[in-house]
Amino acid sequence: MFDDLRDLYQEVIFDHNRNPRNFRVMDDANRQVEGFNPLCGDRLTLFLKIEDGVINDASFQGQGCAISTASVSLMTEIIKGKTEAEAETLFTQFHEMTTGKSEDIQLEAIGKLAVLAGVREYPARVKCATLAWHTLDAALKNQAQSISTE
Ligand code: ZN
Repeated sequence: MFDDLRDLYQEVIFDHNRNPRNFRVMDDANRQVEGFNPLCGDRLTLFLKIEDGVINDASFQGQGCAISTASVSLMTEIIKGKTEAEAETLFTQFHEMTTGKSEDIQLEAIGKLAVLAGVREYPARVKCATLAWHTLDAALKNQAQSISTE
């Protein structure tokens, strides 16, 4: 059990959980979506400011387990400055990485997100890691104001 946890909760995850990046309400956001993972109880609100197809700002609020918090914190850092299309590509890559559907992940492209690849060994935790990304997907498609992983 402790070995498993050591593998899963790597230093980056600890760091982002202790000091989440972009943890704030964004007053001038033009996209706002709530995400909920009932399996674990993770809740977050994602704020985006998209101008001319570019994500100029990203932030979040909410409460969840270490993995969901680290995942959304990492995500908001990584998507800032990306185009909507680039963010969608990252979503697809991240989803394939965490669900193990693709062995051919380009770790360079996915960068720091690779620390979350370990969750694929823990099916119950995959939704914690992907919640932020499903919320992002909904925000980019601009279709829903809240999503649930169930
Ligand atoms: Zn969780």
